[in-house]
Amino acid sequence: MRPSDLLLPMPQGLYCPPGNFYIDPVSPVGAALITHGHSDHARSGHDKVLATSQTLDIMALRYGERFAGVTQVATVGEEMQINGVSVRFVPAGHVLGSAQIVVEKDGLRIVASGDYKRRPDATCLPFEPVACDVFITEATFGLPVFRHPDDHDEIRRLLHSVEQFPERTHLVGAYALGKAQRVISLLRQAGYDRTIYLHGALEKLSSYYQSQGIDLGDLAPATLEKGNQNDFAGEIIICPPSAFSDRWARRFADPITSFASGWMQIRQRIKQQGVELPLILSDHSDWDELTETIRETGASEIWVTHGREEALVRWCELNQIAARPLHLVGYEDEAE
Ligand SMILES: [Zn+2]
Repeated sequence: MRPSDLLLPMPQGLYCPPGNFYIDPVSPVGAALITHGHSDHARSGHDKVLATSQTLDIMALRYGERFAGVTQVATVGEEMQINGVSVRFVPAGHVLGSAQIVVEKDGLRIVASGDYKRRPDATCLPFEPVACDVFITEATFGLPVFRHPDDHDEIRRLLHSVEQFPERTHLVGAYALGKAQRVISLLRQAGYDRTIYLHGALEKLSSYYQSQGIDLGDLAPATLEKGNQNDFAGEIIICPPSAFSDRWARRFADPITSFASGWMQIRQRIKQQGVELPLILSDHSDWDELTETIRETGASEIWVTHGREEALVRWCELNQIAARPLHLVGYEDEAE
């Protein structure tokens, strides 16, 4: 069996002909295996969805209970059979519930990583490398210039700013699924024990994380009903980055805008978004983590997708590993 007999790129996403299922399809299909809850990977309208229980919960929170015809829980680490194809979900370390999908038939094993990161993250299970023949890697930060700094140093810069400007409100932009909860978790790890305030758009998923045993400490809504602007002076408010330009953001005391994203390595993006305090915090692997992971899987063939494919393909070739870009369309990670 050749790799392309087991998984092949189609306009809807990666398709497994013998199993008759897709991985993270971008349009409605019969059977979908979903790696994680970000909206470019997890879409509504499939007949059947197989995913981890947390990814299924997250999809229900975002799309409503009837986001698919039928759902089935994939227990992490457990092997299942779909039309004679073995399938296993293994933690990807990206966001809560995220998984790589291991697909195997007739001794050929392909791992579709979905999005992944390698750094410790208290809000989800850590990435587990799986030995395989073909590894399908993301390449969101697939250029050698992308090297994420230490997470804890980034959070210390935020806390330092809060200390320095006690009369101002710190508005920290972070995407709703994963990044917001990770920023909160990192603040708690750094010893910040005050209440952290949330924009309404982040409440549902943050409560869900708490219900799954992720310790986020004391959270409260950032509402100004009866109080005044100065109520939030010196406080940290987490909001979706889109809220910076809303009237919502103008209610707070002389806000400092911060944004937690891997893209904060790029000066132009910082300027474009008018960010005063950029925090480089990514839920994706940086260049070194991508290349280390490729080596660690021992795969003899690498398929590259979701981002800057060419540099990583070239790196593989220089290291005598066969590689090709998949050119899948429709994946633009909301989480960064
Ligand atoms: Zn993602």
